[in-house]
Amino acid sequence: MPTHTIIDSHCHLDFEVFDADRQALIEHCHSLGISHFIVPGVSHRQWSKLITICADNLSLDLALGLHPMFMEQHQPSDIEALKWALTDYPAVAVGEIGLDFYDKSHDKTTQISLFTSQLELAIEFDLPVILHVRKAHDEVLKLLKQYPVKGGMVHAFSGNMQQAEHYQKRGFLFGAGGSITYPRASKTRDVFSQLAIESLLLETDSPDMPLKGQQGQRNTPKNLLTVLSTLAELRGEEESALAAASTANCQRLFNLNDRLVPQ
Ligand SMILES: [Zn+2]
Repeated sequence: MPTHTIIDSHCHLDFEVFDADRQALIEHCHSLGISHFIVPGVSHRQWSKLITICADNLSLDLALGLHPMFMEQHQPSDIEALKWALTDYPAVAVGEIGLDFYDKSHDKTTQISLFTSQLELAIEFDLPVILHVRKAHDEVLKLLKQYPVKGGMVHAFSGNMQQAEHYQKRGFLFGAGGSITYPRASKTRDVFSQLAIESLLLETDSPDMPLKGQQGQRNTPKNLLTVLSTLAELRGEEESALAAASTANCQRLFNLNDRLVPQ
């Protein structure tokens, strides 16, 4: 019996790199106590595979959105398509959406317009959002004031404590992932040691965001156990307390209560 029941609140299990061993990997994760996975959308052309995979696996929950790092794939008509997909499929969130000003190749105005259209849909469908934000926290916080979504998750949060407090007031939780395993990420580690336990989520962002010592390898949700132990050590908390709290936080945020697979 695994010691904890934990949820990978952000991973891309639908990506091609998992095609060869997806089912075996999911079952292995279950045996380790990683009972559930939130799998976000990134582009219109990827949704149908994602929807099928989530429909075939009770422990995978679907989110639908247009990711800011895939700008060259998005068409203006994708917003209308997203509206229909949210109508037809049981998404637990609109995501992964946001602003990426780190990647200078994508025009800021186009990103903002795509992002705000999706915030409008989240309000219309009364869903939380999954945010991808790089070098743009203040811009995103400004837009959340104009588009008051019901809350959500800031995936792989890397902002400061002041920004965290603003997100918190708007009903946002924070995803801790592989970056906290790097000693050089001292600012992020410091923020995660201070955040309230009620606002923490565990994530791997698999297959991306490799842990320290695993650069160049495929990241998998199995690494969620290392994220848990690293975060517990950083915060001086028991793993069991952190596991229980982050699982409850994730269930509450994404309304998963009737969806979790019993262990
Ligand atoms: Zn992601």
